[in-house]
Amino acid sequence: EHRNPHEPEFHQAVQEIAESVMPWYLAHEDYRKAQILERVTEPDRIISFRVSWETDDGDIRANRAWRVQFSHALGPYKGGLRFHPTVTQSVLKFLGFEQIFKNSLTGLPMGGAKGGSNFNPKGKSEREVMRFCQSLMTELYRHIGEDVDIPAGDIGVGTREISFLFGHYMRLQNRWTGVLTGKGCSFGGSAVRMEATGYGCVYFCEHMLNHHGEGLEGKCIAISGSGNVALHAAEKAVEKGARVVTLSDSDGFVYVREGLQQEHLEFVKDLKQNRRGRISEFAENYRGAEFHEGEDPWRVTCDIALPCATQNELQENDAEALIRNGVMAVCEGANMPLTAGAARLFAAHNILHAPGKASNAGGVAVSGLELSQNAMRISWSHDEVDSLLQKIMTEIHLSCVQHGTSHGRVDYVRGANIAGFKKVADAMLAYGVF
Ligand code: NDP
Repeated sequence: EHRNPHEPEFHQAVQEIAESVMPWYLAHEDYRKAQILERVTEPDRIISFRVSWETDDGDIRANRAWRVQFSHALGPYKGGLRFHPTVTQSVLKFLGFEQIFKNSLTGLPMGGAKGGSNFNPKGKSEREVMRFCQSLMTELYRHIGEDVDIPAGDIGVGTREISFLFGHYMRLQNRWTGVLTGKGCSFGGSAVRMEATGYGCVYFCEHMLNHHGEGLEGKCIAISGSGNVALHAAEKAVEKGARVVTLSDSDGFVYVREGLQQEHLEFVKDLKQNRRGRISEFAENYRGAEFHEGEDPWRVTCDIALPCATQNELQENDAEALIRNGVMAVCEGANMPLTAGAARLFAAHNILHAPGKASNAGGVAVSGLELSQNAMRISWSHDEVDSLLQKIMTEIHLSCVQHGTSHGRVDYVRGANIAGFKKVADAMLAYGVF
């Protein structure tokens, strides 16, 4: 606390990991003597800079941006960029810290980082977003590179923003390298990258249910968010025969009792990705869809909850409602969507709970595969990438089971934390003191 004042999200993320790895950590004298926990909680470096840009009306604006390069023990820094007014150094440190262990779990050679800006893309014209991205890259380019740090997308940063950023990097460096992931498929992007986080989350959820004698088919699922992760999680869940009854955005949630169909999802994809509209418009266009203004979807009756919007979106009273209504599993599509209190409640009630660093690792895993394809100057087909993604999610689930099982029950939070931490700790031990 005294080392990092005013960083509540970062404290929350460190506390969660420290609590679950502590007994295991204390039992390993070599890690303790090398002060691994103290060292891994201090980022390698944080770059903070001003981004000045011009609005369409000729006004000048200044935003703040950061790149938190947390750890490159396992490979070059890797993690997304987030554009949202709630972005602070604390939020990016929590995300960068989580990213270290998530990337470790994928089994691919990637370190942990995160970046972004408090820029709000909502209501900005395409030109304004382009100018902002170009101005941000004018500083960021000197800190990144295909063997140094490879950013990707996150909240508010999709294919459009990655394309502006990538185009400007190329212009500054006069080199085509895979320095960003999430690129368009016609210029170095990977098949399945867009879908990977949501699909991967559902693959993980299915493993978790199967491991406990259950399945996805016929299950009722509540999903929050209506962005990249939420929509692709919904798509895969529907394909697997589940009934997805909700989607949301920061204005409220939509409820469809009989379950969303692919046609509904296509409408929302176009609404969100092309027209940048609000989820309430979906309810206006489809009979049988109810819009609940200003509410989260956690009061509906469901078997499975997939929080796919943002951090701390599911709080203790939401967890109580879900438990009362008979939820059996919570699988995180977003990063740290549960408050510490909500997570404790699910654990106390033996509800299956997959932490984001395991269940949403599919996105960064396919980013890793995008880098391999760029380095080899080839592109794999949709089916090739999807089957690699499935294999990676299967292995992450196995690692959680291996490190988190006690008395026949899997503690996925502990399993993911120990499995992710161990590889990083072993690498740090091997490198000696730095
Ligand atoms: P998008 O920008 O595509 O979508 C975000 C969604 O969450 C929108 O529906 C948005 O609603 C909602 N949302 C965001 N912030 C808030 C908020 N403060 N309050 C309420 N709703 C909010 O982002 P992604 O789908 O890419 O990311 C969602 C989550 O998944 C994040 O936690 C991200 O870190 C995580 N994640 C993403 C990965 C990826 O590959 N994209 C990989 C791994 C994790 P609105 O439009 O109203 O803002």
